[in-house]
Amino acid sequence: MKVGVVKETFPGERRVAVVPDHIPQLVKRGFEVVVEAGAGAEAGYADAVYEGKGAEVVATRKDVFDKADIIAQVRTCGANPDCCEDDFAMMREGQILVGAAEPLGRPDLVAKVAIKRVNAFGLELIPRTTRAQAMDILSSMATVAGYRAVLWAAERLPKFFPMFMTAAGTVAPAKVFVMGAGVAGLQAIATAKRLGAIVSAYDIRPAVKEEIESLGAKFVEMDLESGEGEGGYAKEMDEDFYRRQRELMTKVIAESDVVITTAAVPGKKAPILVTEEMVKGMAPGSVIVDLAAERGGNCELTKADEVVEAHGVTILGPTNVPATLPFHASQMYSKNVFNFLVNMLSKDRERKNEFDIEQEDDILAGTWMTKDGEVVHEAVKEALGAVEGAN
Ligand code: NAD
Repeated sequence: MKVGVVKETFPGERRVAVVPDHIPQLVKRGFEVVVEAGAGAEAGYADAVYEGKGAEVVATRKDVFDKADIIAQVRTCGANPDCCEDDFAMMREGQILVGAAEPLGRPDLVAKVAIKRVNAFGLELIPRTTRAQAMDILSSMATVAGYRAVLWAAERLPKFFPMFMTAAGTVAPAKVFVMGAGVAGLQAIATAKRLGAIVSAYDIRPAVKEEIESLGAKFVEMDLESGEGEGGYAKEMDEDFYRRQRELMTKVIAESDVVITTAAVPGKKAPILVTEEMVKGMAPGSVIVDLAAERGGNCELTKADEVVEAHGVTILGPTNVPATLPFHASQMYSKNVFNFLVNMLSKDRERKNEFDIEQEDDILAGTWMTKDGEVVHEAVKEALGAVEGAN
C-alpha cells in the first residue's frame, strides 16, 4: 500500500502528517511512501531527507493523489473546511483518508467525502483505551499546547517565573493557576514547575488530584460535586454549577499572576469559568492563556487568535497551538499515524503485514467515518442529523 503525504493547506498549518524518520519503519511493514515536494518544509523536514529515508518525492499534490492508496493528512474535512473539497475532487473510489477531520463539528464535510466513496478515518475519534493511546493525536497535540501556553505566558508576564535571591534583592516566584488538568493542563503544570513558578490547579474530575500533586503542584479543593463523565472525560454541568465554581475560584484567580485554562467538555462549547469581573480582580500585568479558545474559550473576554488587553490583564486565545511547534508536533502526530497505519495490518500471524481494514478492530471501527458512499460512524451520523434538522 502506498501512503501519500501532502502539504497542508489550512492557513497557518505548518505540521506534516508523516516525518522522514518514520518512513523506514513504514517500508519495513510493507508500505511505500510518496510525498508532495515541500510537504515537510515548514516543519523542518526537507525533501532530500524524505528521499534519503526512502520516500518518493513528487512535484504536485495531484501526483500524490493519483499514486497513493492512503492519503495521510494533519487536517482534512472539517479541520480544513475551506480547502478540503479541492482534495475531495482529486480522490477516487476506495482510497483511504486518514487525518484530523473535526467530524462532530462539521459532519457535512464528512458527508461530502462519503460521496466520493472514500474510506475516511477521523483521528479525533480514536477510542480512549490503553491500546489506542499510541495513536491518540488529541493527547499528543495537547502536550504541545500545554507546554507552549506556559512559554507564552512567561514571555508576556512582566515578572520572573522562578524565585531569585540576588545581591539586588529577592524576587518572589510567579503564581500560576491551571484550570483543567487533562493532558494539556498537566503539561502546563509540569512546564510552569520547571520554570520555577508556584503552581496550583483545579479539575472537575477529582481523580486528577493525585496527578497534579505528583507534579509538585497544589490541588485547589473546592466544595463542588464531581464532574467525571464517560471514558475519563468531564461531563457537562449546569449553569448553576459553573456559577458556583466561578465564585469559589475568584480568590485563587485574583492571587494568580498567570491563569492557564484548558477546561473542555467533548463536543460542547467550553464553559465560561473566568468572567470579566474576575479579570478585573487580577493584578495589572497578569496573563491569561485560554487554550479553550477554539471552542469559545473559558474566559468571557477571550477572542480567538487575538491578544486582548483588558483591565491591565493580557488575555491570549490561541488556536492551532501545535502548529507553532511544528517539528516536534509533526514528529508526535506522525508516530500516531504510523501506529494507526500499522494497526490496519492483519493481526493474524499467518497474514502478517497484509493490509486488512475489514478486520474486527475497535480502533478501526471507532474512527471509520465513511464507507460505500455513506457516513457510517454513529456519532457523526447523529451530528449530521442535527445539522440537517437545523437547516
Ligand atoms: P479534555 O481536553 O477533554 O479536557 C481538559 C480538562 O478540562 C479535563 O481534565 C476536564 O476534566 C477538565 N474540565 C472540564 N470542565 C471543567 C471545569 N468546569 N472546571 C475544571 N476543569 C474542567 O481532556 P483530556 O486532556 O483529553 O483528558 C481527559 C482525561 O482522559 C485525562 O484523565 C486523560 O489522561 C485521559 N485520556 C485517556 C486516554 C486513553 O486512555 N487513551 C487518552 C487521552 C486522555
